[in-house]
Amino acid sequence: MEGHTDVPCPNCNNPVNDRPRAGDVTVCLNCGAWLVPDGDTKLRGMSRSEAEQIPEDVQSTLIRASRLILQRGSAPAPTAPLEEDPD
Ligand SMILES: [Zn+2]
Repeated sequence: MEGHTDVPCPNCNNPVNDRPRAGDVTVCLNCGAWLVPDGDTKLRGMSRSEAEQIPEDVQSTLIRASRLILQRGSAPAPTAPLEEDPD
């Protein structure tokens, strides 16, 4: 049955309604975690090595989004790969 399904963020349990497709990534609006699809109906946090493989412009967009989210406060400690390597 195809209905309205908010998938909980694996990091903070906040419902994520922007579900990424395979090969895509989304950012949890509550905790800033980078999320990728895990099967058809679930999400999981993106690993550091996966994050390193996505294009640089996408990475910087995600980093900026995560920072904005985390700056609003009230979020648990981030598990998203937020460090920016200078090289
Ligand atoms: Zn979250």
